[in-house]
Amino acid sequence: MNKRMFLKLSAALLGGSSGSRLLGGAPDEPPSDGTLTNWAGNYQYSTRNLHPLTSIEQVRQFVKEHDSLKVLGTRHCFNGIADSAFALISLKSMDQVVALDPKERTVTVEAGVSYGQLCPYLHQKGFALHNLASLPHISVAGACATATHGSGIKNGNLATAVSALEFVTANGDVLTLSRDKDGDTFLGAVVNLGALGVVTKVTLDVQPAFAMRQDVYENLPLAQLTDHYETIVSSGYSVSIFTDWQNNRINEVWVKRRVEQGEVPDAQPEFYGAKLATKNLHPIAELSAENCTEQMGVPGPWYERLPHFRMGFTPSSGKELQSEYFIPRQNAVEAILAIERLRDQVNPHLLISELRTIDADQLWMSPCYRRPSAAIHFTWKQDWDSVRKLMPTIEKELAPYKVRPHWGKLFAVEPALLQSRYEKLDEFKGLLKEHDPHGKFRNEFLTKTLYG
Ligand SMILES: Cc1cc2nc3c(=O)[nH]c(=O)nc-3n(C[C@H](O)[C@H](O)[C@H](O)COP(=O)(O)OP(=O)(O)OC[C@H]3O[C@@H](n4cnc5c(N)ncnc54)[C@H](O)[C@@H]3O)c2cc1C
Repeated sequence: MNKRMFLKLSAALLGGSSGSRLLGGAPDEPPSDGTLTNWAGNYQYSTRNLHPLTSIEQVRQFVKEHDSLKVLGTRHCFNGIADSAFALISLKSMDQVVALDPKERTVTVEAGVSYGQLCPYLHQKGFALHNLASLPHISVAGACATATHGSGIKNGNLATAVSALEFVTANGDVLTLSRDKDGDTFLGAVVNLGALGVVTKVTLDVQPAFAMRQDVYENLPLAQLTDHYETIVSSGYSVSIFTDWQNNRINEVWVKRRVEQGEVPDAQPEFYGAKLATKNLHPIAELSAENCTEQMGVPGPWYERLPHFRMGFTPSSGKELQSEYFIPRQNAVEAILAIERLRDQVNPHLLISELRTIDADQLWMSPCYRRPSAAIHFTWKQDWDSVRKLMPTIEKELAPYKVRPHWGKLFAVEPALLQSRYEKLDEFKGLLKEHDPHGKFRNEFLTKTLYG
């Protein structure tokens, strides 16, 4: 299948990368062939009409003058959630730190900032975020809008760090919502799927900076994981488990631990039958570990250990598709075994799977809303025809656990079923009606997923 066809097919899915290129161009740089795609290159946005905006006044004016628009973050979603048939705006230049409040332990940033920009600044000032995704390249606003997460049984997703949001509503007004003052409305607004308005500032909780180390173990017997799941996922501040579902074994376990001051850290040579790696590894064994954050127990700043991939390098494979499914953590072992039974169907199309944990939260549209969660992630080869056919099979196996898919990745769950799995959906729609009565920020993805 040629690439153009692939792009069209991807776009046809619900909200349904290339080579080892670095990051992809910035969203407000027109691509050389005139088209505008997401980072992975599997989704072509429906318009080339992209407007870089540089101030809140420009945002207000633009919103007032247009009947339909969407904001592009760093374009790392794999589906049509950020798409618009009419106009896209980029806030990439609005990337300043507005205020760091050491007493309140918060930082306020403009919405275009990426974690890769923010984290070194915070660290230098003696502060840290509670967690990060596998990559630092993504925008804070885009990540929080889709409930992007890292791992760790006590770590909520990245949106749980948000304590206030400033956004421009459909009529061009500026509204600020905060955790302290706005109760339920705030809980509905944080994971907003880009549907509530243009987020222009985000305030995040910070904590004192900390050091971390990561140790990687190879070849964990699957039976050890299923017998000791809770202990294994609790064995570090953040634990990521990578598998290709073959040979009854887990390929790699990445254990990320905090290193407290004065501690002389050490790692056991064996971990439930897995062996400590003797060199840095990439989750996809064939790829260079140069793109990955330092391992082998070397202590370093939190923001250079929590993500798997280094800023300035291609994260993951680049040429890939992704799907991810959230299930209650209490069902994690059954769910893992259900996917393991599909191994021969899954493996030919897979680059790697990752198993992570995320704490429960109170954010209405978060896949972890009120449930301590486990996430089963698939990094697929860019073979759209096969992935499209496989997803319903996987989703059927996970249906008994009321699976919720990642908002920014590929899935095929029927809208009605998906809607039934979000108990606060009606309230969220009410919030959208209040701030965007004519659906200015609605697109095909949202219409189909939330209203279809
Ligand atoms: C290689 C790779 C690794 C990944 N790893 C992880 C991972 O570890 N964990 C995880 O959970 N996800 C992961 N993802 C998924 C991805 O990071 C998230 O889905 C995230 O949304 C991407 O942020 P973005 O800025 O690129 O968003 P975009 O794709 O640009 O936009 C996402 C949504 O946010 C909205 N939005 C963006 N900015 C604003 C704004 N200012 N105001 C209002 N709405 C806005 C958009 O309109 C859209 O609806 C990964 C993706 C890739 C490509």
